[in-house]
Amino acid sequence: MNEESLRQALAHLNLGAIRYFDSVGSTNAEALDWAGKDAPHLALVIADEQTSGRGRLNRKWFTPRGSAIAASLILRPGASLRSHFSRLAGLAALAIASMCRELGAEPQIKWPNDVLINGKKIAGVLIETVWADEDVEALVVGMGVNVLREALPPAEALLFPAASLQDGLGKLPPAREAILESILRHFLAWLPRLGTEKFLQTWDSLLAFHGARVEIRAGEEAAAVGELLGLGADGDLQLRDEHDRIISIRYGDVSLRPAA
Ligand code: ADP
Repeated sequence: MNEESLRQALAHLNLGAIRYFDSVGSTNAEALDWAGKDAPHLALVIADEQTSGRGRLNRKWFTPRGSAIAASLILRPGASLRSHFSRLAGLAALAIASMCRELGAEPQIKWPNDVLINGKKIAGVLIETVWADEDVEALVVGMGVNVLREALPPAEALLFPAASLQDGLGKLPPAREAILESILRHFLAWLPRLGTEKFLQTWDSLLAFHGARVEIRAGEEAAAVGELLGLGADGDLQLRDEHDRIISIRYGDVSLRPAA
């Protein structure tokens, strides 16, 4: 991947602007900074390597050179996006999952925002916000995709099993430019439909662990355990607990794991 081929591959998407880095601390940090200044809607930060990539909850995201996609898209939300913030992580996960399907894999989404192939995490999403007083000025949608095997962190750094697209496809994936083009194309196609029932249904149909017992953790604490029923009206996750009560888990800093 180089800047020229990347710009060519993405040209038809009419993004607001593109900043490419051979190496950067974190594409999300770079995008947040740019979003706080003059970044236009749909500006993209992309890097070949992240030296301090971020996950949720202050976790680290590993992006070694030459083997992964690390990209952060800046959104300046209009009215319709403002009413559906909580669906945005699902939108990014759906866009990545759609790319996987286009390549012939069968992805699933570990609610709210991780993409799995064969039960292993091949991509993560991190949404961050630029506030202006009480108001959301911009959103940064960070996406990390393990393309080649070399992208994987050492096993001891993992909280959940990880894999790459290469593992999931059983062969070398296409060039990263083409993979990113596919993700962004799907993202932009769904963005105006974020508020629709069809979007929720499509996200729901890809959810991993449907009907299985899962545990929701907030930090190290188990916050809830129950059977995964699917998505609620605003992208919240519905579980049925052991007393047959329906519990709704709101999108936030929570993690989902299969229950023991
Ligand atoms: P969660 O699974 O709770 O949603 P995050 O999406 O925030 O977690 O991702 C951070 C975690 O993902 C890290 O703590 C680490 O265990 C794992 N991780 C870091 N880099 C990668 C990677 N390239 N591929 C898969 N998992 C990773």
